[in-house]
Amino acid sequence: MIAGRVADVIVIGGGIVGAACADELASQGLNVCVLDCQRPAATAAGMGHLVVLDHSPAELALGEYSVRLWRELAAHLPDDCAMRTNGTLWLACNEPEMAEAERKQQALSAFGLGCELISGAALAEVEPSLRPGLLGALKVSGDGILYAPNAARWLLQRQPGRVRQRQAEVVAVEGNRVRLADGQWLQADAVLLANGIYAKDLCPDLPLQAKKGHLLITDRYPAQISHTLVELGYITNAHKGDGPSVAFNLQQRPTGQLFVGSSRQFDNHDPAIDAAMLGRMLRRAMDFLPDLGHLNGIRSWTGFRSASPDGQPLVGEHPQQPGLWLAVGHEGLGVTTATGTAKLLAAQLLRTSPPAELQPHLHAYLPQRFIGAHVHA
Ligand SMILES: Cc1cc2nc3c(=O)[nH]c(=O)nc-3n(C[C@H](O)[C@H](O)[C@H](O)COP(=O)(O)OP(=O)(O)OC[C@H]3O[C@@H](n4cnc5c(N)ncnc54)[C@H](O)[C@@H]3O)c2cc1C
Repeated sequence: MIAGRVADVIVIGGGIVGAACADELASQGLNVCVLDCQRPAATAAGMGHLVVLDHSPAELALGEYSVRLWRELAAHLPDDCAMRTNGTLWLACNEPEMAEAERKQQALSAFGLGCELISGAALAEVEPSLRPGLLGALKVSGDGILYAPNAARWLLQRQPGRVRQRQAEVVAVEGNRVRLADGQWLQADAVLLANGIYAKDLCPDLPLQAKKGHLLITDRYPAQISHTLVELGYITNAHKGDGPSVAFNLQQRPTGQLFVGSSRQFDNHDPAIDAAMLGRMLRRAMDFLPDLGHLNGIRSWTGFRSASPDGQPLVGEHPQQPGLWLAVGHEGLGVTTATGTAKLLAAQLLRTSPPAELQPHLHAYLPQRFIGAHVHA
């Protein structure tokens, strides 16, 4: 079969990760063709919390670098991307969680992030809607929020001379060539797989697992909270292990709507709302913000995070398929880390130096940690 060359790089997937990669590659002078078949995308389902997590040094480095890149982009983003640097408050209910707040504060400060521990009394002053009796919180000032679907659209449209979009379903990938559902083959110097949870359909050797999540959004209300609020139990217990879990996670959008999360269920591919899970998630949220029960929830939905075994994305060339590049496995952080992923991917693809911030942890992002190199007989 003859494959038509359509661009320097074909990107499969126009969610936030594919969009950020396409934009970065275009900024470096490449012509990019983005193929997307409009399936339900995590980018449209997520909370858009730009948050630096620190389960590992690699996660901390990628998160810090990426959020910094978002802040640099903020001045250029249109209003409908609703980006705000409102900061995160990590809430401690008990002594172990306060100890976790202290540990986190040290880890983030050592990395140069602006953060401070605040007492229960100070917390009650800055967030009076929270229930009384919380022990304190860690405030991380540089975190933010973003309306990711609009940010992805903007990234895909801002360099029209270099980034072309085409609605098409890719049904097979072979190195630097792709086959579309209509049978047509397309090729480029490189193909980038950035199609989130669907990546395994095209590349079954990827070690990705779906993690289902529920979210709910309310009507518009006057200011109820001023930071994004997350319980430290999110780290210390609720989201550990493989069982279903919920954790309090709340942000108020610039529209005034409250965005309530979060839940996690492994190996559940059913997009239907699980009423019991949603109920558990909302009860948890009301434990922290009692007045939430008086607000009007207008919509709830589910989405799927694409999780790798160690929680870090796979960014780099497929070790067994020259010409096929990967930007997958971003789990619950792909909006945050899309910008850093794009820089890391572009540096590898163009054989330039990776960002200095990520250099010490490079091995932690490469696909090689899960997919061995092809052994020739
Ligand atoms: C409930 C929930 C809450 C979350 N909250 C946050 C958060 O607060 N902060 C954060 O940073 N992250 C969050 N995330 C994670 C984040 O949303 C994802 O990591 C991120 O959106 C992944 O983006 P993506 O571009 O890789 O994939 P997606 O957004 O899923 O995009 C994939 C695209 O590929 C296209 N596609 C798929 N298959 C094909 C094919 N065969 N041919 C052509 N096109 C194809 C689809 O149409 C889709 O547009 C959350 C996720 C969920 C589910």
